[in-house]
Amino acid sequence: MILGVECTAHTFGIGIVDRGKILVNLKDMYKTEKGGIVPIEAARHHENIADILYNKALEEARISEGRIKAIALSNAPGLAPCLLAGMRFAKEKSGNLNIPLVPVNHCIAHLEIGRSLGSKDPVLLYASGANTQIIAYASGKYRVFGETLDIGVGNFIDKVARHFKLGFPGGPKIEELARTGRYIEIPYSIKGMDVSFSGIQTRLQQLFDSGEKIANLAFSLQENAFAMLVESAERALAHTGKKELVLGGGVACNLRLQEMCKIMCRERGAKFYCPEKQLLMDNGAMIAYLGEIIFKSGIKQKAEEIDIKPRERTDDVEVTWR
Ligand code: AMP
Ligand code: MG
Repeated sequence: MILGVECTAHTFGIGIVDRGKILVNLKDMYKTEKGGIVPIEAARHHENIADILYNKALEEARISEGRIKAIALSNAPGLAPCLLAGMRFAKEKSGNLNIPLVPVNHCIAHLEIGRSLGSKDPVLLYASGANTQIIAYASGKYRVFGETLDIGVGNFIDKVARHFKLGFPGGPKIEELARTGRYIEIPYSIKGMDVSFSGIQTRLQQLFDSGEKIANLAFSLQENAFAMLVESAERALAHTGKKELVLGGGVACNLRLQEMCKIMCRERGAKFYCPEKQLLMDNGAMIAYLGEIIFKSGIKQKAEEIDIKPRERTDDVEVTWR
């Protein structure tokens, strides 16, 4: 059994996986009254909740600590204070139990969890708050085929929602409002396979300030932003010849985005895998899941050699487990 620790941003998560089967997946999210994440505070949240979640996870899985064969840790990429808090915790546990520590790249874990649904070699559309990337495996590495040139799609939605006085997080509220909206023209911004959101953000805010109905703005936001993402994902499928799409990230909870992906995949004969909500969002189970694959492939690193890598790029990772 492998225990996974997720700690890259606002969420602290613990998951336990046994031969590819997820036994538990617990998480606790740092929240703010207003404004964004204060990294130091999020790290303190992780420190405070870590032992509680760890014990609860063992209890729910009905196992003793001794059954755990390795600790997997999301050591990259993310907010340095949060990563540090998670690493301290994971190193302490692996030291006490005298078991290996397995570093896992968070973005790749979002992709690899698709395997638990049956996907083998997918394109990942990773749409979260801070990250927006289209990733796939090619020639020995996970490569970023497309990504945002400015802010992540979730942060974009949250910023617009804040301007509309909807509070945080904005995604679910925008989704709700969009149900009664109609399309009005706003920018559509894709360059090659990269996307950008700041121009759309400015235009939506201007339209709001001049009295446009929020429902129409929410609807148009979703149609354009998501179509951009799906267009880039489709190009990645066409370019690589792959036949599977996996969704990841909090924004992927959006039903309209899921529907667009479904339609695109159907039209081009690709399979669409949408993990359940608990696996779409940041979570410890996906870290344990990929950690187990890496562990079983025979990779061993000394715990003292493992450090956080806040800015690690997906294609920096040496893939040794495929
Ligand atoms: P993550 O960074 O992966 O934890 O995802 C958080 C982001 O997902 C925030 O920006 C949320 O606004 C966004 N989000 C959550 N639910 C939805 C939804 N139903 N539609 C769009 N965005 C969402
Ligand atoms: Mg994530």
